[in-house]
Amino acid sequence: MRIGILALQGAFAEHRDMLESLGTDCTEIRQRKDFRENLDALILPGGESTVMKKLLGELGLLNPIRKSIEDGMPVMGTCAGLILLAENVDGGEPCFGTMPVTVRRNAYGRQLGSFQTVEEVKGVGQFPMNFIRAPYIEKVREDVEILAVTEGNITAARYGSQLGLAFHPELTDDPGIHRYFIEEIC
Ligand code: GLN
Repeated sequence: MRIGILALQGAFAEHRDMLESLGTDCTEIRQRKDFRENLDALILPGGESTVMKKLLGELGLLNPIRKSIEDGMPVMGTCAGLILLAENVDGGEPCFGTMPVTVRRNAYGRQLGSFQTVEEVKGVGQFPMNFIRAPYIEKVREDVEILAVTEGNITAARYGSQLGLAFHPELTDDPGIHRYFIEEIC
């Protein structure tokens, strides 16, 4: 199995380290030619969704990645990556728009927006969650499975082979979410 990690900006190296610790091969996607058919799954990391969206368009990656996700390629989006997947982003145009959820960006405020907590994630168990200027999911369509709720807000959800997380599982030493993605979704 080979997992592609979008590596234009943000916390991609930490995903690579986590996946490699689980024995999974990775390819960093920096340009169009890195995104090939031999990838079994994709990770969209945290960072700044507006910057990533702009670069995806400029590099010609937006349409091929969207098509692969629509065709069923497993994808995990964390934080900004969740924003890229969301069909509705408050006050903005969606990027891939493949996941029928509504997200609110910087939902906890810009300045005091970083915090940690431990919460149950369905299928994974208790998990340490790091939120950094994080979004949360305001609304999901009825066929989206809610996997975690933190302080009354949805922070993890699954729609078929798309996994969206408001927090950063790659910034912990708990591989539980990555293992869930590989074993249950890929
Ligand atoms: N606030 C960022 C955005 O809107 C997301 C932050 C993150 O990925 N840690 O894209």
